[in-house]
Amino acid sequence: MRLDVISIFPEYLQPLSLSLIGRAAEDGILDLNVTNLRDFTEDKHRKVDDTPYGGGAGMVMMPEPWGRALDSVRPADAQGAKPTLIVPSPAGAVFNQQMAYDLAEEEHLVFACGRYEGIDERVVDYAHENFNVIPVSIGDYVLNGGEVAVMVMVEAIARLIPGVIGNPESLVEESHSDVLLEYPVYTKPASWRGREVPEVLLGGNHQRVGRFRRDEQIKRTAARRPDLITQMDVPSLNRRDRDA
Ligand code: SAM
Repeated sequence: MRLDVISIFPEYLQPLSLSLIGRAAEDGILDLNVTNLRDFTEDKHRKVDDTPYGGGAGMVMMPEPWGRALDSVRPADAQGAKPTLIVPSPAGAVFNQQMAYDLAEEEHLVFACGRYEGIDERVVDYAHENFNVIPVSIGDYVLNGGEVAVMVMVEAIARLIPGVIGNPESLVEESHSDVLLEYPVYTKPASWRGREVPEVLLGGNHQRVGRFRRDEQIKRTAARRPDLITQMDVPSLNRRDRDA
């Protein structure tokens, strides 16, 4: 998968060269490119922002550098599939695991990191000519810029690409892989500071372990995310119980 990130702070994206994402880039599974928006300015101060039309506080990112930067990352062959342009914004659709699954299927993702009061709206309008544009929020709060949001999304998306995570089995029973949150997990020692690992996990009975974990998932989801419990797929849970 090719990933392009456009930002005025390319250094912010350096952590993407670490850990599993960094290794996937080294192995050629990800082709990760970070572009400095200021390279597309034409004045000596490399200015990317100006005051908002209509007045108001703060500055707005100017369309000209953004237009050139987006032109530089779009494929030369206009006949092929359009890349997806993700525009991080607190006013976007809220990112979730299903979006991560869908985006992990794409061949080319471009991320446009806003700063200040955001990017001139005409840039988003223009981008539709060459990209599938999706404004995406990582949650209902406001960050200073899109870089941290991009790191969140890239990590969630890239780990779903085959070859990025050593053991793909670990993606199967995670929180949000179905509606329920993941069950609690334990490792050695079996007794620690007066706290015991639940006895059922020590016995080696896979059916009992499966049911215990399923019950813990339901309890945890009901306590922490009651909004999810109504989406629980009861027939599929019953099938899982029968097949265990
Ligand atoms: N004035 C904008 C508004 O109220 O919608 C907020 C601009 S914010 C200070 C600057 C940039 O941070 C945005 O353009 C976006 O790139 C990023 N950003 C802030 N909060 C975000 C969030 N919750 N999700 C994704 N990106 C966010």
